[in-house]
Amino acid sequence: MRCVHSLGAHPPLRSLESPLSRHERPSLADQTTELLRELIRNECVNDGTADSGHELRTVRTLQAFFEGSGLTGVVVEPHPERASLIVRIEGTDPTAPSLALVGHTDVVPVERAGWERDPFAAEIVDGFLWGRGAIDMLNLTAAYAVVTREIARGSFRPRGDLVFAAVADEESGSTYGVEWLTENRLDLIDADYVLTESGGAPAGRQPGIGVMVGEKGSAARVLRVSGNPGHGSAPWGRRNAAVVAAEAVRRVAQFSTPTVITPQWRAYAAELDLDDAVRAQLVDPSEFFDALPVLGDLAGFAHASTHTTISPNVVRAGGKINVIPGEATIALDIRILPGVSADDVDGYLREALGDLMDGITIEGDQFGPSSISSTDTPLFDVLRGAVRRAYPSAELLPMLGVGGTDGRFYRRRGVPSYASGCSASAGTTGCSAPCSTGTTSASTSSLSTSP
Ligand SMILES: [Zn+2]
Repeated sequence: MRCVHSLGAHPPLRSLESPLSRHERPSLADQTTELLRELIRNECVNDGTADSGHELRTVRTLQAFFEGSGLTGVVVEPHPERASLIVRIEGTDPTAPSLALVGHTDVVPVERAGWERDPFAAEIVDGFLWGRGAIDMLNLTAAYAVVTREIARGSFRPRGDLVFAAVADEESGSTYGVEWLTENRLDLIDADYVLTESGGAPAGRQPGIGVMVGEKGSAARVLRVSGNPGHGSAPWGRRNAAVVAAEAVRRVAQFSTPTVITPQWRAYAAELDLDDAVRAQLVDPSEFFDALPVLGDLAGFAHASTHTTISPNVVRAGGKINVIPGEATIALDIRILPGVSADDVDGYLREALGDLMDGITIEGDQFGPSSISSTDTPLFDVLRGAVRRAYPSAELLPMLGVGGTDGRFYRRRGVPSYASGCSASAGTTGCSAPCSTGTTSASTSSLSTSP
């Protein structure tokens, strides 16, 4: 797989030569590419509203894809057109551990002005496939489907069950996807082990293959700012809620939560292809920020990997040009490190706002803790072996994801979930595909689209 870019979170990474020869993989590669193009064209854009997504389109595509394989699967549709398809190949040994391949089918909206090509045409140009979702994560969803069908058609039967779940609504918190399935139809998606997005990018000097073994949590909050409304023609002396909100946004944005060097970050930083001095700074809380200017695109990922982050993303105040607003709201996207509590989050906000707290209330109690899977599992060993078939010298590099994935719903129940793939060339943590596909794909998205 080749990716133009995705997270924008890494310095240039060394391209790896795979010993797999072309003739061993074209069939599965071509199947994956063709299915991926269909999934992109289905345009299952999830804008966060209940009536968006329309993942039923991709469920229909996958049903047609599995036709004749003996697999039918189960479709759930908790809200009109917010459908998921779950397929299960029964193992030969009911006591053997099961594996679920969980791929979401929705994508985030596009700002067309930022695209050089139609984001939903799935064009292949100069060996790159263009499309929204090409690397988050329709590539993996397509590859999971191809692998599942291949097994169903062949004579090999796994000892444990193999589950393929093509799920809706991952990009908006999974209300109509894995969260709903977990609460209502756990029997369909449950397994002893899970693979999902993203991971799989070559990284560092060894080289390492990134495997997301966990992810940060979230604790969204809203700051409600009270002011003193009045006529816009006489602003002197009025407490304009918009002006107070502007200062609150500035303080929150500049506030620095503690720098925490997690075991995953320490291991990851040790493998980066950087000067020794910079690598040392990246694991020293007192010097961490000195290293960021030289990291380029990696800086944002490095910061997010070592800090609870607070991003003021939606600010609202006023409604009419000649009225001084008496109220403003600031929605904060807060991503928390392991061990950070809801009280810690509210404490950070009070500390950041200082004397502004007099006219501000903190609203919301959303709290989803960070989740991490142990690497001491048979599946992790299997992943290592699979990666080394393509890259014999590679080490797996356990990483903490800074966004969210459906893996958290499994990890919170104690089910090991890894974000694993294997990119065939330089990429980022958000760019992955199974080694065997050879799919070429690209996206003009420069940001991770994990929710
Ligand atoms: Zn995703």
